[in-house]
Amino acid sequence: MSTSPRYRFAPSPTGYFHVGGARTALYNWLLALKNNGTFVLRIEDTDESRNEPQWTQGIIDALAWIGIDSKDSHFEGPYFQSTYAAEHVAAAHKLFESGNAYYCDQTSEQIQERAKAAGLNGYDGFSRDRKLGPGLGHVLRFRVPEGKTIVHDTVRGAVEFDNTTIEDFVLLRSNGTPVFLIANVVDDITMNITHVVRAEEHLPNTPKQQMLWEALGHQPPVWAHVPVLVNEQRKKLSKRRDKVAVEQYREEGILPEAMINYLMTLGWAPSGDTEIVPLQQIQDEFRLEDVNHSPAFFDIKKLQAFNGEYIRLMTPERFIAAANEVLTSAAATWPAEQYKPELFAAMASLVQTRVVVMAEVVAMVDFLFLEEPPIDEAAFTKSFSSDFAQPTLTEIAEAFERIDWNVESIKAAVEEVGARHDVKLGKLQGPLRIAITGRPVGPPLFEPIELLGRQESLRRIRAALVRATA
Ligand code: GLU
Repeated sequence: MSTSPRYRFAPSPTGYFHVGGARTALYNWLLALKNNGTFVLRIEDTDESRNEPQWTQGIIDALAWIGIDSKDSHFEGPYFQSTYAAEHVAAAHKLFESGNAYYCDQTSEQIQERAKAAGLNGYDGFSRDRKLGPGLGHVLRFRVPEGKTIVHDTVRGAVEFDNTTIEDFVLLRSNGTPVFLIANVVDDITMNITHVVRAEEHLPNTPKQQMLWEALGHQPPVWAHVPVLVNEQRKKLSKRRDKVAVEQYREEGILPEAMINYLMTLGWAPSGDTEIVPLQQIQDEFRLEDVNHSPAFFDIKKLQAFNGEYIRLMTPERFIAAANEVLTSAAATWPAEQYKPELFAAMASLVQTRVVVMAEVVAMVDFLFLEEPPIDEAAFTKSFSSDFAQPTLTEIAEAFERIDWNVESIKAAVEEVGARHDVKLGKLQGPLRIAITGRPVGPPLFEPIELLGRQESLRRIRAALVRATA
């Protein structure tokens, strides 16, 4: 067997790819890179009622998005669990032949009745010595040995399980199909997996799986169970309650580097006083031993703050390219032919410093590409309720008719009107902004006014004045 470590990520393709899964995948991937090992992707697709091919593709795409590159030499797979069913069954039969497993004909009603009578929680081992063979309605059960099972978990330390609390669990259902526990172990053995790094919810399975490794004649892998992600109410992140799909964050404009960095800080921290660090540093410093075992809060606001930082770190070219993607996507609110990339590029730097997710770019610049930007009525009414709004805006329009058309003159003209009426620039800009953009907030105003042009700016200001008196 090779000495370099072999990690794996073994998702079940039963829905959108969860951020918790993304974190587990990243842990495995970065460890494989750091230790010059292998990252095996195994799709656990044996539950036919819940699997769909689209979810598998979703997983592969989401992994690629967070930098887990299937073309990299450290990547192996994807393997599909369903193609190894014969191996799973063969291993179960081997356990039967070696006396580690036995057949049982008891129905769940019979099991429950006896458990009730004996005050037990589950199956009492009734068929252990009945020497049954395979047959209609028979399941194959593992013969749990006496004693204790100690799972040495890299994150949680030694976790001890008393074997009396573990019933003789099923390996093959009565229809002969293998259950998750054995399929998962057999695949790990066949794929020479040395490290099982996975979600904490699998910790209760681990003593059973460790017994299977041993009964099948193999040294168990290094185990590491990473803590669950919880929401603000400290409840486990769930598909029903929380926004958990990686895909959704991607669509909203979270950048992959922000997502990677943020996920890696859940339950772990890089050295130094900032958590926003280059991926190489994370890869160099990350150790499972340092992962905290208490639940980690998946804080969407913090993820967005990380994203804002990463947007600021982009080169202008990259920001423009990323924004163009959003501005030409379905998120755009204007007819496609009205989008002018050069207009956006001219004010891109003003936007880059002000958004936390790329999707916000749309609302910041829509007024440039919409002939009639929708007007925020409440903000309009508020802005025009002041005494100064109409007279100052009227004078601004007059000035705009005659000045040289550039940012400096536009700004100087507005300031002059402000000085005349003793109104500060910040206040004065309220009605002007609504007139030009339809919104109460947005990027600095003078550059876009210049870009929009004299005629169009005047048209909008006059329309606002008419609306204000209507
Ligand atoms: N297929 C299992 C799941 O998605 C993972 C099993 C494992 O990592 O061992 O929860």
